[in-house]
Amino acid sequence: MESVEFDEAEQVLVAAVRVRRRDRDRCGVCRRRCPRYDAGRGRRRWRALDLGTVQAFVEAAASRVRCREHGIVVSAVPWARHGAGHTRAFDDTVAWLATATSRSTVRQLMRIAWPTVGAIITRVRADIDARVDRLAGLRRIGIDEISYKKNHRYLTVVVDHDTGRLVWAAPGNDKPTLAAFFELLGPDRCAQITHVSADAAAWIARTVAQYCPDATRCADPFHVVKWATDALDQVRRQAWNTARRQPGGSNKDRRGRRASAGAAQTMKRARWALWKNPQKPQRSPTPQACLDSQNRPPPLPRLPAQRRTPARLRNRWRSR
Ligand SMILES: [Zn+2]
Repeated sequence: MESVEFDEAEQVLVAAVRVRRRDRDRCGVCRRRCPRYDAGRGRRRWRALDLGTVQAFVEAAASRVRCREHGIVVSAVPWARHGAGHTRAFDDTVAWLATATSRSTVRQLMRIAWPTVGAIITRVRADIDARVDRLAGLRRIGIDEISYKKNHRYLTVVVDHDTGRLVWAAPGNDKPTLAAFFELLGPDRCAQITHVSADAAAWIARTVAQYCPDATRCADPFHVVKWATDALDQVRRQAWNTARRQPGGSNKDRRGRRASAGAAQTMKRARWALWKNPQKPQRSPTPQACLDSQNRPPPLPRLPAQRRTPARLRNRWRSR
């Protein structure tokens, strides 16, 4: 550290530094020690993390070296990645924020342009990929497809159930897309996979059967609960239709339109109550409470037994 000064013209804090002797004259790409080439474009600044609301910069000489492998390149500095205009800590903060918050929040908080956020994410990702093998040690994975561009395009994603991390994603939702993941994984690591969870898509089942024939295929809780919810709604519709055809099940409103009444009206409005988790306090009365309060025998005997199904299923998965 040579000096710390406040730049009145730019209204920023500048820390002038010098690279330690042992880190000097190293190739920016491979970090090998190389002969000095020239002084490059002189001193330059790297944006560092703000000090409160004041923007801060690290300033140092950016000399160039001649690397045997990479030619004439700007020499490496320990506080920033090669080719970056921001310090390593700044890059890491932006990359983390991008995973945890919205794009406009990152932009406003860090006072950078959105394309800069993209460039930083690419840089940090390349750095992590060089050090970490995301596909190492996979045992239990989940495969799913997510849509974007208003359901016109799809991404196939793979998560590691043991770490809860996303390990792979690619555009497309078909067999060749997923096959690319298993090809990348290789036969040895495919053989180590014990469990694969997915929805009922045939292309996933076929691909998994081809590459991981010994793995146990499981239905994931999200889809099981969704199927149960859909089935329950079908039963509710049937019950509603039965109820409104009974005497007093419907009446005509002022404009002459037929509207549900009594038990049929309760069933029609019961959709959200049925979906809710029964452990959470409910503001609106349950359909059962409505029926009981009217002091008549419940005309729909099939519903009470089935109404807790989605929540019960959800809890079953949680308890495992
Ligand atoms: Zn090099």
